[in-house]
Amino acid sequence: MKISVYGAGIFGLASAVALARRGQSVTLYDPNPLPHDRAASYDISKAIRGSYGTKTPLYAPLVLEARAEWRHLERRSGRTILHEIGGLHLALRDDESAFELTSERELRRLAWPVEVWDRGRCAEAMPGFAMSEICLGVFDRYAGWLDALQALYALSEEATQLGVRLEVGKPPPPWEGAADAVVMAIGAWFSTEPGPWSQSIRTSEQHEGFFATDSSTEDLGRSWPFWSLDLDDAGYYGFPTHPGGILKVACHRPGPVADPRGSRAPSAAASATLRAFLRRHIHTAAHLEDQGRTCLYTLTPDHDWIIDEHPGHPGVFVAGGGSGHAFKFGPTLGRLLAERLLDGIQRPQFALSRLNPR
Ligand SMILES: Cc1cc2nc3c(=O)[nH]c(=O)nc-3n(C[C@H](O)[C@H](O)[C@H](O)COP(=O)(O)OP(=O)(O)OC[C@H]3O[C@@H](n4cnc5c(N)ncnc54)[C@H](O)[C@@H]3O)c2cc1C
Repeated sequence: MKISVYGAGIFGLASAVALARRGQSVTLYDPNPLPHDRAASYDISKAIRGSYGTKTPLYAPLVLEARAEWRHLERRSGRTILHEIGGLHLALRDDESAFELTSERELRRLAWPVEVWDRGRCAEAMPGFAMSEICLGVFDRYAGWLDALQALYALSEEATQLGVRLEVGKPPPPWEGAADAVVMAIGAWFSTEPGPWSQSIRTSEQHEGFFATDSSTEDLGRSWPFWSLDLDDAGYYGFPTHPGGILKVACHRPGPVADPRGSRAPSAAASATLRAFLRRHIHTAAHLEDQGRTCLYTLTPDHDWIIDEHPGHPGVFVAGGGSGHAFKFGPTLGRLLAERLLDGIQRPQFALSRLNPR
């Protein structure tokens, strides 16, 4: 079958690879270069974690599969992608129903290596992070971070080896009738394309703080795990200091609605929110310059993705709605799309019909 995939972010690349691996003739179109610095998939690091609160039974098995697939891709490509350094989900309260302890219970059921740490143990693992307000931490041994650019390069090389034609950096042909089947994986740009997602998808601006460490902070965060902390106003997360000397800290409260074609100038208000967080929890970094960037979440109402056939256009498949958490699943997104397109397997949690349930 001839299949055209539109969009070379993580959904599109992984779909192209999975379809080509299953013997299909695939062309991957993107008007922008690969990697594209305005795509959500472009980054210095992306978190991988099993903790998903009440959704852990749905997502953690997919994370486990993706973890194995990233390792296979590392071996095939010779690139280092997955940094499995662990993840520490800090909590202000010992609340059984909160995200951290709900995840911990669900992960244990899956025999996932997870531990509850007291404040002292958390402080040992994260020197320089003020822990006086912290009650406990849930440590996920399989969590860590992915080198997003290495992952994109490895997938695009694999796509080429499998015979995928890469048509990037030039305007793609119209998608209607482009091939026997079409995969639309255009990330935040879905908000500019009319379709059955129009009423439901919200594209929101997210600021990532990239704090450039200096001589007074060069050791700060180097040994930390990936971490998260839900405060009363919002959730915050961050990574160990990147080899390039950047301490990345972000807030995952949905930001203002954004147009993917608009400015990506960092928001002063979002940067100020992060600086206030630093003053409270990472004092020694509070003076550092924020060289951060604005990236876009493509949010569905329930924050589950869309991997389904377009009801008005048989043969057109939609892969997206990453909702700020899809990157870690990489190759697994491709498998799910290929199974939807080639085998007709429909998973209700990723179905388009759930967005417009009339
Ligand atoms: C700030 C931020 C932090 C995040 N952190 C994490 C994290 O820590 N862990 C995690 O797992 N996930 C994370 N995510 C989520 C993850 O990055 C996204 O869910 C995922 O990258 C979305 O991939 P995509 O392929 O849908 O979109 P994109 O990567 O945006 O790719 C879409 C592509 O479509 C192309 N395109 C646009 N229009 C057309 C067209 N007409 N035809 C063809 N191509 C087109 C674009 O050029 C682009 O290359 C984060 C997201 C953001 C914004």
